Amino acid sequence: MTVLEQAKALGPYMASIRETIHAYPELGNEEHQTAGVIARELKRLGIGYQTGVANTGVVGLLKGEKEGEEKTILLRADIDALPIQEQNDLPFASQNAGKMHACGHDVHTAMLLGAAEILASRKDLFSGNVKFCFQPAEEAPEGGAELMVKEGVLENPKVDFAMGLHVNPTFPIGQCAVTEGPVTACPDFFTIEFLGKGGHGSLPHLAKDPIAPLAQFVTQLPQVRTKINAQHPCVIQLCSFHGGTAPAVIPDCCKGEGTVRVFQKEDSFQAEAELKQLAEAIAQAYGVTCRFHYRRRCFSVVNDPAFAARVRQSTADIFEQGFREHRDMGGDDFCFFSDKVPSIYMPIGSYDGTEKTAYPLHHPQFNIGYGVLEKGAAALAQCALDFLSGVWQ
Ligand SMILES: [Zn+2]
Ligand SMILES: [Zn+2]
Repeated sequence: MTVLEQAKALGPYMASIRETIHAYPELGNEEHQTAGVIARELKRLGIGYQTGVANTGVVGLLKGEKEGEEKTILLRADIDALPIQEQNDLPFASQNAGKMHACGHDVHTAMLLGAAEILASRKDLFSGNVKFCFQPAEEAPEGGAELMVKEGVLENPKVDFAMGLHVNPTFPIGQCAVTEGPVTACPDFFTIEFLGKGGHGSLPHLAKDPIAPLAQFVTQLPQVRTKINAQHPCVIQLCSFHGGTAPAVIPDCCKGEGTVRVFQKEDSFQAEAELKQLAEAIAQAYGVTCRFHYRRRCFSVVNDPAFAARVRQSTADIFEQGFREHRDMGGDDFCFFSDKVPSIYMPIGSYDGTEKTAYPLHHPQFNIGYGVLEKGAAALAQCALDFLSGVWQ
């Protein structure tokens, strides 16, 4: 039986795991029930594991039984949900009000357990180790990946290669992307506050209006873009704008929040400097003060070119719709792994041709076509087998 055939046979198992986790979504660092399901399944498979890694993460370790070089591959699934109220009418829809697996992390978890079952049944075929890394809090501001790395997930045994998948509803099932170099953006965030002096709306000359400066700041954001290398992708977007409470009261403060998405570290630092300079220039022109805060969560996930070629070769039969080039303006804290060890992060298609699987990630009606489960599990298992049995030498 091929790895893909075995993954197909595990389809109903993975679907049931996915539905169990989908029905009880848990936010970052609260994934106790989810971790319980993972631990139960690893135990059933005879795979040793550690719980409580980076609060609520689980790490399984499977040792190959073949004589040979002892390398270690880490396979990562994120396990947390989002603070979104699900709008799907499904028998396994979220039972936890205001929480939903709208980013497919329930699917990633099920696929990694499927891969674990495939690899456990083939441990006589490889040497070295597979680390199954079930990572909490990918969506949280203080991501789980960074803490897992700090707690030593890349050591004992030392990881030589790491892989992670993400479902993608803009690709059909059977298609994926193994793009070289940076594949996700730096997800940066900024807050800008203009602080004036409140007063009566009829007497603006006695007040200092903080709304007009923020309005000007928004309209000048395209100018900031022109300062960043035109050949590099760059998004600078204000997403919230708050000031005032009544039609005739000038407020003291007006606050905006936004995001910057770039792929290069230097662009991230330049965007920060340019935005700060713009805010200060506007504040000065209006005679108000400003507070500017820029927050960096992680940098880009970067794919290793040599491993990209090997992964494409090993998974060509699994992804019958082929490979495409893809860089995502979203971020993923998988970058804390790809920063330290050669890595591959691949978006894989979850769209099955029906409208219900076409909603974007983070949408309250997000859903997947179940065909993606066997693709993801087979890809992870096949790459682990090929890496640890010398096929990639
Ligand atoms: Zn997400
Ligand atoms: Zn995600």
